Amino acid sequence: VLGTGFASLSLLDNLAKGRFDVTVVSPRNHFLFTPLLPSTTVGTVEFRSIIEPIRTACRLDPFTFYQAFTTAVDPARKVVTCEGATDGAVFTLEYDLLVVAVGAVSRTFNVPGVREHAFFLKELHHARAIRQRIIECFERAAHPGLHEEEDRRLLHFVVVGGGPTGVEFAAELHDFISQDLRKWYPREASVARITLVEATGGLLNMFHKELGDYAVRRFRRSRIDVRMGASVREVTAQSIRLADGSEIPCGLVVWSTGLEATPLVRSLPYPTDLTQRLLIDAEFCADPAAEIYAIGDCATRSGDELPATAQVALQEGRYLAYCLNRRAAGKPPKLFRYRHMGMLAYIGSRRALVDTGRWKGKGFSAWLFWRSVYLTKLVSLKNKMTVAFDWFKALLFGRDISSF
Ligand SMILES: Cc1cc2nc3c(=O)[nH]c(=O)nc-3n(C[C@H](O)[C@H](O)[C@H](O)COP(=O)(O)OP(=O)(O)OC[C@H]3O[C@@H](n4cnc5c(N)ncnc54)[C@H](O)[C@@H]3O)c2cc1C
Repeated sequence: VLGTGFASLSLLDNLAKGRFDVTVVSPRNHFLFTPLLPSTTVGTVEFRSIIEPIRTACRLDPFTFYQAFTTAVDPARKVVTCEGATDGAVFTLEYDLLVVAVGAVSRTFNVPGVREHAFFLKELHHARAIRQRIIECFERAAHPGLHEEEDRRLLHFVVVGGGPTGVEFAAELHDFISQDLRKWYPREASVARITLVEATGGLLNMFHKELGDYAVRRFRRSRIDVRMGASVREVTAQSIRLADGSEIPCGLVVWSTGLEATPLVRSLPYPTDLTQRLLIDAEFCADPAAEIYAIGDCATRSGDELPATAQVALQEGRYLAYCLNRRAAGKPPKLFRYRHMGMLAYIGSRRALVDTGRWKGKGFSAWLFWRSVYLTKLVSLKNKMTVAFDWFKALLFGRDISSF
């Protein structure tokens, strides 16, 4: 099994115990609960509260884990080549059945400067780097004798992409500035600005339009500058340049404009869809002869494209485990049916959006719902307790502003 994300963990959780000899390969030796990742960029939730080591999360026996990138798959020989994540040592592994669940990487649209100067928000180390940069900008702006222009640049935070990740990050940053940094850096917080740049005409386009419009209104009321219909042409060390030629000086750019295939998926000799996801059949198989399956963000069924979300990945992992269990027992599986549970997004100031199709909620009650859903969805009791504790701690003492 390649990967330790939502799809893999769900597969491992549902495989029949004692029937399979499972080896997992992933550069990340833990599972990461991404829905709360934006909260860690400002310390509403601490980093370790939303991860769970794969060795403690997986209860299969036998179970082997290698912390490595898979760099190549040889379907003819049924061998994968791996590269140690810490030392780069190369090794190969033979398999009978391969599950590719390597997720996706942030899409840059080849905009110059994004990889060099912008911050992504997909992994824990990204969140840590963003948190570090925010505090660094405030500390640098607090220095004496700084030119007014440089002061304004450092304290201007730009988010590119108006999907759930960009919106939630902007919301968390706004809370951090207005609830905590304002107390400790009163002058700097009054200068600080957030700009959200979105290429289409609205935010959160996968939500009902009424909810997306509500988010725009709330953001504007919170003095977050929402620029819709604007696309970024270049990111430099100190600014972004828009398609209309205008330049926005800034101290931080967070880039969240969708997903593209990982290098491993791009190297596989199988067809993909327009968004570079591997095309799989009804039982999530990409290559029946070589017994290669694919689930989660890196795959999609032809004719039934599902969004790249955790709930899809979870259901696909569970279904693939069911298929493999049935096959091991000599029984045919039933067809996969996706059940959409709805969408949630945090929009700041203790307000959230809920869109379950039937219920379109917004505001404080939606925020309570948002928090309770994520608390129950966290994978371990330890995570649930630490996240609840982090929320309580942030409420009581404020978020931590240390930089180290
Ligand atoms: C900030 C953020 C917030 C989100 N919020 C939500 C939300 O609220 N609700 C929701 O439904 N979805 C949300 N998502 C989307 C959700 O996280 C993904 O859809 C989900 O993680 C996909 O699961 P996956 O298992 O396919 O991939 P991932 O969870 O990304 O896991 C991929 C795994 O593969 C590993 N890997 C990568 N390359 C290799 C390689 N070469 N070899 C071996 N292993 C490899 C990675 O280390 C990782 O362990 C959010 C995503 C982000 C980034």
